[in-house]
Amino acid sequence: MKRFSYLNATTLDEAILGLASGDSIVIAGGTDIINILKARSQPRSPKRVINIKNISELSGIKEDNDYIKIGALTKLSEIGEDKLIREKYPVLSQAALAVASPQIRNMGTIGGNLCQETRCWYYRYPENVFYCLRKGGKNCPAFTAENHFHSVFGAAKVSDPPCQSNCPGGVNIPLYLSKIRETKLEEASKILLESNPIPAITGRVCPHFCQQECNRKDFDESVSIRGIERFIGDYILDNASKLMEIPKKETKHHVAIIGSGPAGLSAAYYLRRFGHNVTIFERAERAGGMLYYGIPAYRLPRDIVERAVGAIEGMGVKFRLKTFVGKDVSLGSLLKGFDSLFISTGAWLQRSIGIEGEELTVSGLSFLTGNLPPNYDLKGKRVLVIGGGNVAVDVGITAKRLGAKEVTLACLESREEMPAFKWEIEQALQEGIMLMPSWGPKKVVAKGGIKSVELVRCISVFDEVGNFCPCLDDSIREYKEVDEVLMAVGQKADLSFIGNDLQLELVKGLILIDHKTQRTNIPGIFAGGDVTTGPASVIQAIAAGKKAASEINSFLGGAEATTKYFIEDSNSFLSFNPDYIRKTISTGIRVKPISERSLNEEDISGFIWEEAFEEANRCFNCGCVSVNPSDLAPALIALGARIKTTKRTVSAEEFFRVGVMKSTILEDDELVTAIEIPRPEEGTKQAFLKFRIRKTIDFPIVSVAIAINIKAGKVNRARIAINGVAPLPFRVVSAEEVLVGREVNEENAEATGKAATIGTIALSKNKYVIQIIKTLVKRAILSCR
Ligand code: FAD
Repeated sequence: MKRFSYLNATTLDEAILGLASGDSIVIAGGTDIINILKARSQPRSPKRVINIKNISELSGIKEDNDYIKIGALTKLSEIGEDKLIREKYPVLSQAALAVASPQIRNMGTIGGNLCQETRCWYYRYPENVFYCLRKGGKNCPAFTAENHFHSVFGAAKVSDPPCQSNCPGGVNIPLYLSKIRETKLEEASKILLESNPIPAITGRVCPHFCQQECNRKDFDESVSIRGIERFIGDYILDNASKLMEIPKKETKHHVAIIGSGPAGLSAAYYLRRFGHNVTIFERAERAGGMLYYGIPAYRLPRDIVERAVGAIEGMGVKFRLKTFVGKDVSLGSLLKGFDSLFISTGAWLQRSIGIEGEELTVSGLSFLTGNLPPNYDLKGKRVLVIGGGNVAVDVGITAKRLGAKEVTLACLESREEMPAFKWEIEQALQEGIMLMPSWGPKKVVAKGGIKSVELVRCISVFDEVGNFCPCLDDSIREYKEVDEVLMAVGQKADLSFIGNDLQLELVKGLILIDHKTQRTNIPGIFAGGDVTTGPASVIQAIAAGKKAASEINSFLGGAEATTKYFIEDSNSFLSFNPDYIRKTISTGIRVKPISERSLNEEDISGFIWEEAFEEANRCFNCGCVSVNPSDLAPALIALGARIKTTKRTVSAEEFFRVGVMKSTILEDDELVTAIEIPRPEEGTKQAFLKFRIRKTIDFPIVSVAIAINIKAGKVNRARIAINGVAPLPFRVVSAEEVLVGREVNEENAEATGKAATIGTIALSKNKYVIQIIKTLVKRAILSCR
């Protein structure tokens, strides 16, 4: 056990003061907490244990006119044996007496019983052997391993799963996949649009860091989030007029955006949703930035970019194409004419590496964007591409598909260190491109129409701390004779458009911003995308555009919440396909055979609906499937009790909304003080039943508490609560609805028991629990006859 200090609080104020200073844990009965401390199951051990057992004002049972008040420190044995409780609230007395052993009931308090930690051996295992989701880890081991005693009602969202937290755009991937499982495509689209206005594009070109971290990869194969995103992205484009509408309310504000790449398009979309007037200034003939001009069409067809731009234009965003800010209009004049500016001009200048003869080479970016001398033709030529990143691979493949006879990629990095994604390199190799890793160019010499490139061996690329610091060995050389050398060694931002009329602060060739707010040093001017980060990715640019839109909206005095379509219901459990445990192979993506690949037709084909649906059904919808073990909780829910804390009074149901590392809504400096239970209506019958494996010292596999009011032989009102079967205790409203208005008999009790299992999702080993719920609910009802 780790060392901790001890505070023996004798008043509530003393305890709260101790709690407010942080890193403390409360000991009420002491039956559970000591074990937790001993097991060191939490990543952080509390520095202090505060004993509240001696706060006299917190114990005792008092009857008022229409309710009973039980102090939080009242012992379970007292509650179980109290005459008044036995008479008027028998369900509570039975629940208290069902807790573990007499010894534990003599120590345990009602407050402690309600606040006990969740039941799950992975969570409770000593020394963080299982660093589960609830502890801040990446997955819940119970999904694929032992899960006899885990939830049969789905999982609790205790933190963002790795797919979502690895997405730079923070897309709520599990939520939109769950809507696909419900075949609600419109809702899935709206959720995706919350974080990404151009999913048809990212579905094709995003590196999908989400998919690389999917928990399913350790079980069989990651879910093909990419394929599903593309499917929904295309659905959005097909239904753009419905899903990307003109805002209902227009504000009087005007915002100018400079640059129509993904950052600019994203900012425009979200600003428009706020109702602002948006004009995008773009120097090129077509909108889309690198999406239109840089990324090859065989990966991202131009018509997809045009349709995505068209959808945003359809919302009322104005595009001023062929307008070069800095030449046709100055930044200063835009600042005067608009209420706010967003700069997203990207990184379009080819970096120079300063070698002799560099002027004999062609910029890879110019090559891709078609900015080339007239009659430039690579057919039948030998090409050397300098660079090892994704852009270099795009340049190499494009050159090959343009008819180059031989294409070689030379880069400083070793094969393992090459910055291009592995699958991109594989594709280049498949298409016959040769690699020369660990070679650095030294000189380019023209010999007639031929170019001779001197390359020297690169020993290492990075220093001990990981900084780019290439070390070359001049004694090992190679001469490569080719017809064309294409440079793809990175891009930088062209900031010449800023001019001198504004003192915009720059840093290392980029616009300086506060990365939390996208604000520049000039009030009203925001910036984002590659011009603030250097060459990055489409999804990063989208995320920056979204953040900037929200900050610009605040800058303009707008309210925040109006743009949200979806707010997750923290009280509902996460659902998934109960067949998830079956090992499956991802539908994956279909790539054309090499012989059929071209420059302008897409290499990869998308999912059809059945494939998207099946793939979405492979998602675990990762959450925490631990269960709440309190026996008193369902009894209090059935009785409609109120929990009084040092800060508020809430219903027993509300009290158990789960949060990370918590099993109740209590804040760090908040304590339960009492429980108030209204007097049951005349004619109310109550029952509590618990199924456990051993008679003593055991948690419930299922506990059921019911309070039913019977009038004229029929159930007038019913409250049925269950616990031990989900991350929190809850009312089975579907079952209550079946019972109300009916007689208490075998048939109706059976139907009610069945209804109590609606929404169950068995894991691989806990299906039996569903049968127990059904039986216990039925028996509890029949005991009220
Ligand atoms: P950009 O997309 O560069 O857009 C900037 C826009 O501003 C351009 O339209 C430009 O014309 C305009 N502009 C610039 N200056 C002015 C001015 N003065 N006045 C008016 N307009 C101006 N990322 C991925 O995630 N996946 C990929 O597969 C991928 N492949 C790539 C392939 C290539 C060849 C390249 C070069 C990049 C690739 N990227 C990829 C990176 C990605 O394209 C960029 O990170 C992203 O486009 C940056 O978005 P942005 O909005 O900041 O800038």
